[in-house]
Amino acid sequence: MERTLTGIPAAPGIAVGPVYLLRWEVPEVRYRIITDEQVPHEIGRLHEALERAKARLHQVRERAEHHAGTDEAAIFDVQASILEDTELIGAVEAYIRQNLGAEKAFDLVMLDWRRHFAGATSSMLRERVGDLTDLHIRVLSILLGLPDHDPVDLPKGSGAILVTHDLTPSLTVQLDREAIVAIATDAGTRTSHVAILARSLGLPAVVGLRDITSRLTGKEKLILDGTAGIIVVDPSPEEIETYRTRALREVQEDDELRALAHVESVTLDGVPITIRANVDLPDEAEVAATSGADGVGLMRTEFLVVGRTTMPDEDEQYRAYRRVLEAFRGQTVVIRTFDIGGDKLPVGGFPSEANPFLGWRAIRMCLDQPEMFKTQLRALLRAAAHGDLRIMLPLVVTRDEVQQARTLMAEAVDELARRSAEFRADVPLGIMIETPAAAVSSDTLAKDVSFFSIGTNDLVQYTLAVDRGNANLASRFTALHPAVLKLIHRTVTVGEQYGLDVSVCGEMASQPLMAYALLGLGVRSLSVSPRGVPLMKRIVRAVRIDDAARSATAALACATAALAEMELRRGLSAALTSHASAGDGLLGVSHSI
Ligand code: PEP
Ligand code: MG
Repeated sequence: MERTLTGIPAAPGIAVGPVYLLRWEVPEVRYRIITDEQVPHEIGRLHEALERAKARLHQVRERAEHHAGTDEAAIFDVQASILEDTELIGAVEAYIRQNLGAEKAFDLVMLDWRRHFAGATSSMLRERVGDLTDLHIRVLSILLGLPDHDPVDLPKGSGAILVTHDLTPSLTVQLDREAIVAIATDAGTRTSHVAILARSLGLPAVVGLRDITSRLTGKEKLILDGTAGIIVVDPSPEEIETYRTRALREVQEDDELRALAHVESVTLDGVPITIRANVDLPDEAEVAATSGADGVGLMRTEFLVVGRTTMPDEDEQYRAYRRVLEAFRGQTVVIRTFDIGGDKLPVGGFPSEANPFLGWRAIRMCLDQPEMFKTQLRALLRAAAHGDLRIMLPLVVTRDEVQQARTLMAEAVDELARRSAEFRADVPLGIMIETPAAAVSSDTLAKDVSFFSIGTNDLVQYTLAVDRGNANLASRFTALHPAVLKLIHRTVTVGEQYGLDVSVCGEMASQPLMAYALLGLGVRSLSVSPRGVPLMKRIVRAVRIDDAARSATAALACATAALAEMELRRGLSAALTSHASAGDGLLGVSHSI
């Protein structure tokens, strides 16, 4: 087997540790015919497996409660109660009485229930599909005597590298951050939500390894280099030493960059650029606030819902939003309303959709569930009393969506006023530009909103028809494609025309060469991961806007992403060389492009 595996760098950092192989997939089950005499024994095996699964769920619940909180842990109570469902048990027993082995009987019933729930009209029922899948895996693993791959087993301080196919929300809430030091997955890309979550958790991650779970046995030791996207299997002591030295250097570079946290973000020719932080979890807020960011450019609220059975109520949301505003002490904080669906969260029936990325998600789902949406809006308006909050709507494609959201916001205001709650009514409302429709028709949307924020992760996905989470397509996910550059340029031009702030909060803003292109296209505000803030300041301080504009104009005229990249690379290298004495630590910049 090759000892070096290359994937997609998803979250920076280097880790060395034993593999923790988590195969959380429904195992294959053969048909096994039993005799009439064996029926009672098989029914006994079924009940024993159900009891063991429930005992396990109890343990998992306790762990999850400790790591993620009571609400997140409640999902496991629901799962345990499904295992007591008499209809479910009756159906499995009926198959066993028809001479099927317990594992096949359970398998058939679970397949049937999952199909049935996925097609249900009630979103409450559809939400249960993920739980049924978890139970399907858990009970079958017991019946088949498979190794217990439950993430709950990891002892603290084991320093393990989690290797799994994909990180689902229910696995995420079970993760013990004191036991896991890094993540490697078969699936995923830089912009998929595993990657975003790993960056939030501060765990180095390599994703898109395609088949690492089938290449490893679980007994190996790994070096995981999340900065380069490389895994070394069973490294030699010399290789470990080399990577340890590299890890140390990365930490030093990080420290050097952190020293830049509080310098001004202004280009060599004196143009101020706003650098904000993307915050995905309220827990991150305090640390993010020390990154030198000028506020939060994107808070993804959907992570408040990860792995839960119910939506967080108004008070819980209010506390989470207020915490972020208070951490940023008066700086602007842009909070995005729930962007649930697609690859994000299976809340509300996504498993049953043939095309979840084109489906009932984000603003569409919020507008169709006004009570859920207004709960969030009320929490936001109340939190707005504690800082400079702005509300942002995801995946907008038409003006009607903005107008409907405004109507619901006005209702939320009335409801709060009737309650005499403390809140702010005049919170600016902006939208994400993350579909070609929104970019092309941004002039029709501009009249109703206070700002635009370009979500390049989705904009690239929808413009190029390339799934952002599909590792097999990663090389086709080219943000410098002429169509994408033109849509960004159009959005910036419309923003200027209507006097709206236009920022970029997708991954593009975090990558030096892309950020240079964005500055050249006229973007004056970037939102990046908190760790990326000092690096972005370094880039900004090392370039001139007129150079960037020249390079961007040349890139816009290119026929392909590869040519545009060459153009930008040439421009940035020349700019860095010619202005080398004016900037600080320029070598670091040229290294990272
Ligand atoms: C985007 O689409 O670029 C974006 C910032 O939003 P998300 O990654 O959460 O979809
Ligand atoms: Mg998006």
